[in-house]
Amino acid sequence: MQRVLILGGTAEARELARLLERDERFHVVSSLAGRVADPRLPVGETRIGGFGGPSGLAAFLSGDGFDVLVDATHPFAATISRNAAIAAAQASVPLIAVVRPEWSPVPGDTWTRVPTVPAAAAELGRRAGEPAGGRALLTTGRQDAHRFTELDDWWFLIRVVDAPSGPLPRNHELLRDRGPYTIESERELMLANRIDVLVTKNSGSALVAAKLAAARELGVQVIMVDRPLPPGGVDTATTAEQAYRALVSQS
Ligand code: NAP
Repeated sequence: MQRVLILGGTAEARELARLLERDERFHVVSSLAGRVADPRLPVGETRIGGFGGPSGLAAFLSGDGFDVLVDATHPFAATISRNAAIAAAQASVPLIAVVRPEWSPVPGDTWTRVPTVPAAAAELGRRAGEPAGGRALLTTGRQDAHRFTELDDWWFLIRVVDAPSGPLPRNHELLRDRGPYTIESERELMLANRIDVLVTKNSGSALVAAKLAAARELGVQVIMVDRPLPPGGVDTATTAEQAYRALVSQS
């Protein structure tokens, strides 16, 4: 039986755990960082919390006799992906990454692409007053909300799963919510809050893609934060099913 450790926190990680759990050739353990108070748990065995860097993860892989590591973390979780690549090499365990495709603009979109969340804040800062008292829907997550605290000319609707613990922009409303969303509900949200600009990371997730279609329909501009570079030289699948097939062929 192949022991598989999935670094998770995504829909793809939960789907892969479901596929492996029902296949008797595999024993799967899913790992979550523990960031979210009430996480969506995968089926099967789960552990929660950091490993203590790459060497801690390498020791965990060797100590628990894992045969393969799957990095199915969010495309913006750059540290754990880097740690996974180092740890897999240290522990001599094969690594497969699950990386969903990026979103790309289609006709009708007005995207400004920026490399980081601070760059998204700087871009909004440059646009202060155009329109006067601009209103932004911020979906970059709890950990990044403090990046926008200098922007007093903007009003923010900050959509997060859990409330941020750090400082927040002076003019804001918090919306505690979690996808999936529909185009209708996203359109309604943007209209009701008179949103001018959507700020989002290019997560590529189908569960939260409706905001892009709603923005297109309503002429809402998008500030799109590009993904950090993933570690090189890692075998990559784009879906849970593809990763499952790769694991079956390696077993
Ligand atoms: P990160 O910055 O890449 O990782 C920071 C540290 O958190 C890592 O060094 C590791 O601690 C721990 N960690 C992260 N993912 C882990 C996992 N699956 N299992 C065990 N420990 C983990 O990560 P992040 O951006 O804070 O994201 C944390 C988790 O939330 C990830 O699992 C990711 O899939 C999920 N998530 C992230 C985002 C996002 O926008 N970043 C969005 C949705 C979901 P040690 O060094 O101590 O091992």
